[in-house]
Amino acid sequence: MTRVGFIGLGNMGGPMCGHLVSAGFEVTAFDLDPGALSRLVDAGARAAGSVRDCAAAAEVLITMLPAPPQVDAVWLGDGGAVSALVPGSLAIDMSTSSTAVGARVVAAARERGVHVLDAPVAGQSIGAKAGTLAIYVGGPEDAFARARPLLEAMGDPDRIFHLGGNGAGYTVKLLLNLLWFIESVAVGEVLSVGVRAGVSLDRLHGALVGSPANSVFLERDVRMVLDDGDYDEAFPMRLVTKDLGLAVDLARDVGVPVELTALVEQIHRRARALYGDDAGEISAVRLYEDLAGVRLRLGET
Ligand code: NAD
Repeated sequence: MTRVGFIGLGNMGGPMCGHLVSAGFEVTAFDLDPGALSRLVDAGARAAGSVRDCAAAAEVLITMLPAPPQVDAVWLGDGGAVSALVPGSLAIDMSTSSTAVGARVVAAARERGVHVLDAPVAGQSIGAKAGTLAIYVGGPEDAFARARPLLEAMGDPDRIFHLGGNGAGYTVKLLLNLLWFIESVAVGEVLSVGVRAGVSLDRLHGALVGSPANSVFLERDVRMVLDDGDYDEAFPMRLVTKDLGLAVDLARDVGVPVELTALVEQIHRRARALYGDDAGEISAVRLYEDLAGVRLRLGET
């Protein structure tokens, strides 16, 4: 069985690594947080003492880290993973990170004969626990084929998308998040204005869902707020604003003006400043509720 190293055992990486252990892979794991590491040891992984120790033992090394600075440090920093990997091994970063850091990892890995994939995910910690994540992969076809059994142990086999060369996975992941967070602002605005204008939320929401302006966010995802006042703390605003900042950076890097994206990023930054780093990902809707002085709850009007 393939020897797998796994670094970053948080809300997402912990359960993902657990699925690899359950699938029978020989897993060595590492995290700066001893509690996170001991949970995986209890599940059957071997504990590494450092990033280098984890990388040196691996044929395939996977990372699931918070953001580009940690991805950069773990792969390329002093005592980083790339310099410890054996030539011919495979490096997979599953964090939501930047194409810029990804390109530096690819360049350093190429010098050592190491293959690289970017493979960020969607589906939240619920999907990570259930092993049903969608996975967005960038990198060479042969590396993708080699990674597929591992990806299938962590994700839904029907939603593992090979999207192109290195960086394509990060790009698509950032764009799908961007579109969803644009919709959250649009829906927050529209519903707040309608309710302030005197239309019942139940009738307004029903009419919009039945209209050409319907969306998955409007019909399904915002219902957490409208039914239960739940702004979904499973994905915190500190990660939302990180992802939106990366989307702005991506657009700047490729030279496309994105006024809407920049504005939407700042609206989410305002919501984070008001409600906190750990506030739920739909906090932009709460911002509009507070601005308009309304509570958007179905069944109350
Ligand atoms: P998390 O903060 O829960 O976990 C990150 C882990 O990385 C922590 O255990 C931390 O100790 C560890 N870590 C940080 N720096 C390290 C280092 N230098 N060496 C070793 N370990 C280190 O984050 P998460 O929620 O698991 O998210 C991970 C990634 O997945 C992020 O990029 C996030 O945007 C993305 N993501 C998250 C969700 C979600 O719902 N939480 C959904 C999709 C994608």
